[in-house]
Formats: sequence, C-alpha cells, structure tokens
Amino acid sequence: MLKVLVATQDTQGQRDDDYNWAVEGELVWVQKPCATDLRRMPNACGCGRGFAGVASHRATSTAKVVESSLTLIEYIAAIRTTLADGGWPPSSAESIAQGLVTFASEWAEGSVLQRDVWVFEARRGRLTDGGTLLSWVAHM
Ligand SMILES: [Zn+2]
Repeated sequence: MLKVLVATQDTQGQRDDDYNWAVEGELVWVQKPCATDLRRMPNACGCGRGFAGVASHRATSTAKVVESSLTLIEYIAAIRTTLADGGWPPSSAESIAQGLVTFASEWAEGSVLQRDVWVFEARRGRLTDGGTLLSWVAHM
C-alpha cells in the first residue's frame, strides 16, 4: 500500500480562506507557489495554501492522507500525466512522486493537511481514533 494525498472536503471552512475546486478523492500534488504567494503579498492568489488536483488541475486547501492501492509505478505515471498536461517537464515525475510518497508516509492515515507555502500542518477537530490524535501531537 502506498500512502498518498487526495483532495478532501473534510474540515473545509475551518480556515476562513479555505477553498476546494478539486474533485473529491482525486490525487493531489504540491506545486511551487507563484511569486506573490511566496512573498505573502496581500493580493496573493492563494496557491500557497493549495494542493493541485492531478486529474482536474483544480486546487483545494485541504488534502487527506490515504492508503492507496496504486503501485509506485502507477503513481509515477499519474504524476507524469498531470505534469505533461499542465506544461511541466514530465521528466520530473519520478522525483516528484517519490517526494510525495515520502512526505505522505510521515503522516497518519486520515490526517487532513493544510498548507502555508512550505509549512504543512495536520488539522485538529476531526478525531477519528487515538492513532490520528497521536500523529497530530507528533507533528505539533
Ligand atoms: Zn499564487
């Protein structure tokens, strides 16, 4: 089993500036924010809080860590396709996929993550089991 990030509606609205244009349950990946978001300008577009939908190319500010039945090869192929479709170099697919798998493996299954540029946090407020709680504490 491969731990991956998917778009989720869960905990949407917990932050005033939450948004979710992605398709529920689709794979998401983490893109470098645009210059205004990187500099945290007042007119930032919000991509610095976003996770990008692999299939829809639309973003969400909430991503869930789930165990997927995808193999690593299949996962890399999905990332390669979204890169190619989005005009990014598909040759980066393997390193991006590996990075995402490593990142996802550090969180408990079911964690809902939010992002502030390069700072990621599991949200509280949706306790499903003690294991999830422990992982939140571990990431505080
Ligand atoms: Zn932006």
